[in-house]
Amino acid sequence: MNINQSFKQKLIDIVGSDYVIVDKQDMIVYESDGTHDKGMPDYVTLPGSVEEVSKLVILANDYGIPIIARGSGTGLSGGAVPISGGLIISVNRMNKILNIDPEKATAVLEAGVINLEISKKASEYGLFYAPDPSSQQACSIGGNVAENSGGPHCLAYGVTTNHILAIEVVLPTGEITWFGEMNKESSGIDFRGLFIGSEGTFGICTKVVVKLLKQPEEVQTFLIAFNNINDAANATTSIIGSGIIPSAIEMMDRTASKAAEEGTNAGIPENSDTVLLIEIEGFKEDIKEQELLIKDIVNEFDPIEIKLAANTKERDLFWKARKGVLGALGRIAPNYFLVDGTVPRTKLSFVLSEVNKLAKKYGLIVANVLHAGDGNLHPCIIFDQQTPGDTQKALSLGGDILKVCVENGGVLSGEHGIGYEKKEYMPLLFSENDINYMKEMKNIFDSKNNFNPGKIFPEMSDTIEQPK
Ligand SMILES: Cc1cc2nc3c(=O)[nH]c(=O)nc-3n(C[C@H](O)[C@H](O)[C@H](O)COP(=O)(O)OP(=O)(O)OC[C@H]3O[C@@H](n4cnc5c(N)ncnc54)[C@H](O)[C@@H]3O)c2cc1C
Repeated sequence: MNINQSFKQKLIDIVGSDYVIVDKQDMIVYESDGTHDKGMPDYVTLPGSVEEVSKLVILANDYGIPIIARGSGTGLSGGAVPISGGLIISVNRMNKILNIDPEKATAVLEAGVINLEISKKASEYGLFYAPDPSSQQACSIGGNVAENSGGPHCLAYGVTTNHILAIEVVLPTGEITWFGEMNKESSGIDFRGLFIGSEGTFGICTKVVVKLLKQPEEVQTFLIAFNNINDAANATTSIIGSGIIPSAIEMMDRTASKAAEEGTNAGIPENSDTVLLIEIEGFKEDIKEQELLIKDIVNEFDPIEIKLAANTKERDLFWKARKGVLGALGRIAPNYFLVDGTVPRTKLSFVLSEVNKLAKKYGLIVANVLHAGDGNLHPCIIFDQQTPGDTQKALSLGGDILKVCVENGGVLSGEHGIGYEKKEYMPLLFSENDINYMKEMKNIFDSKNNFNPGKIFPEMSDTIEQPK
């Protein structure tokens, strides 16, 4: 697609020349997200208001130019990548926290607000926003809505959709509308719920009303080192089986925890194989009781060490090790491909051993990082894209890991979405009928297929067969 001068001028008329990008060099940053997928956009715009977004959508419709909504570009399924060009509408400039209502415990946000900023601001009122993706220092609330994002603390609190009351949306026609209710759960058909997790294929989210929670009276964080991954996985299953639901149970295997320790000096013992990071929150007396119970359960699995965070500083350090682990893996090799699949918690131990077998078969290093409490695996395949053939090997290994997850009762994505990267695997989980129903749903919102085309839905020619 060539740059169309009249289209470019009309973009400038809507958002101003400072907020239209067409130079290839300046658009490189918009060519990819957190994955390896790439696609050069034809135009990038940074609108400052919902009205501008609406005008951009109407204009792109007139010219038949595809639209790709973009937040911070931290996505891990290629969702924000303009695979076949088109117009990127980035909500980065729309980043104001418009209101916090401490009485109702809600916040009204523009879609470009960074996740972590919500809890920072809400803490002034003793409140916080629960979903906390490990990328929360960078990702936007609009991106979280589009991906229905999770995070370490979603074990007890639930994922994004459980914390969103209402969203303002620009539909593919350019119409501005609200889904959901400001003060209560919505009645009637839940378009709010339908839009959340639609990965930018139903329109652009421009404002979000979130629920806030009261900060807990007491928080206790454990860092527990185990001799092997099976003990850590079985301890996870036993803790949840006992009826305790910690706010988080995170796991890092030997490769991941070694890299995390080198990056942070969080105090992970040198002889540790796998670590669990467990957090419990609530009233003081309940926490004391749960702490003792967790210690009892964990002791059955012969841990190397059970550490309790002595203070907030140490807790933050434990979390820095966990949330920074993907960056820390850069010490091993320059590239990683992060797989996102889930399995029933009881299958964790078996599936992790299968993942390790597959890694050996492909001759690649896999660092396993898990939201273990949710059975959400993130095998991180580490490689160097300069080594001929390794990128393809990493992608094939990722596909094989997803197949193992599905064969063991899991799903294709715990939180990162399907996007571009996983669409060919959809038939592993969904029948042709299922996929057609999803397409019909998309058709109701976007009959011209102008919003994020080429995502989620597989082209039937290049799909993987559903197991018989
Ligand atoms: C180091 C690292 C750790 C991560 N940890 C987690 C984690 O713990 N949990 C988790 O769930 N994810 C995690 N992610 C993935 C990612 O951060 C989330 O998917 C996040 O929600 C993406 O937000 P974003 O603003 O970067 O969206 P983008 O990457 O810009 O876009 C993602 C998708 O959302 C669409 N989109 C973006 N904004 C809008 C909008 N306003 N309206 C409509 N559609 C929109 C895009 O079209 C695209 O399909 C991690 C990523 C990294 C790099």
